[in-house]
Amino acid sequence: MKKAIVYIVLVIGICFTIPIFLTIKFKIQEVSSENKVILDIEKYAYTDFEKIKLLHKATSEIEEVALDEYVTAVVSAEIPVSYDLEAIKAQSVATRTYTIYKIIHGSKHENADICDDASCCQAWISREDRISKWGENGIDNMNKIIQAVNATVGEVITYQGQIINAFFHSNSGGKTETVSNVWGGTDLPYLQTVETAGEERYTQYSSEVTFTRDELLNKLKETYSDIQINFDDKESIKILELTDGGRVKTIRLGNKELSGVESRRIFGLKSANFEVNIENEKIVFKVTGNGHGVGMSQTGADALAKQGKTYQEILSHFYTGVEITKFN
Ligand SMILES: [Zn+2]
Repeated sequence: MKKAIVYIVLVIGICFTIPIFLTIKFKIQEVSSENKVILDIEKYAYTDFEKIKLLHKATSEIEEVALDEYVTAVVSAEIPVSYDLEAIKAQSVATRTYTIYKIIHGSKHENADICDDASCCQAWISREDRISKWGENGIDNMNKIIQAVNATVGEVITYQGQIINAFFHSNSGGKTETVSNVWGGTDLPYLQTVETAGEERYTQYSSEVTFTRDELLNKLKETYSDIQINFDDKESIKILELTDGGRVKTIRLGNKELSGVESRRIFGLKSANFEVNIENEKIVFKVTGNGHGVGMSQTGADALAKQGKTYQEILSHFYTGVEITKFN
């Protein structure tokens, strides 16, 4: 009899508790659907970016161009056409992604989405100018670029469904850099330091810049009027710290400490990955790589393509944990 009462109590208990659990679960789902992050890839259609407003910096003229026509012009200007087709496809997807990211997250320019200045947005060259610069291979080269852009139409790089800020540069010197080490602020999970073999075979890999003592001081005086360097003391010019990407984080220059990025700007170096030596009357910077070092390296992309990697594999190499997503 006691057992029977226990069973009845249990059955009644279960009948009451199951609906309670179901209600709680349902409520949790309701809450999470309200807070659900809408993915870029669901929020936008490819046709939203059909026409983009391109600012020509030299003339201040704003031109409306079709997105993939713009991508073709940027790819023609940004990457050597002699590179492997897969590397050019990777550049096409990176350029399209970078452009759409800028449109979604707000342009630097008041009435335009993007400009034609490489030091501000992305390099750009008109089809006619590019074909004439290429000379006798003009049409074939343009067809190669168009082939790469067409093969990737509608494709962008996403990280957890969001379109990424697809930075790219010329040559990483073998190792890419994180965002915070170049522009400060917070790092992005898909822009980590990655290593790429084969970049040393490209001319963009190494360069050298030499200054006299006076030239070096004059460059520094533009920013630091009270700069003082005792050139006879080897310790007066010394790299103090490197970044994870192997670039100069801090350098002592006489009575000042500068970041590698600032030194790169002041001395016009190709990258912040450098060694510096006082050689008699001269100061010699030996520089590795070309560009800020964040995201995809173009020579690295070509090196990987020549090892048989596809453009999807190349993009996944440089942008950690991403997917290549095609718009509907
Ligand atoms: Zn710009």
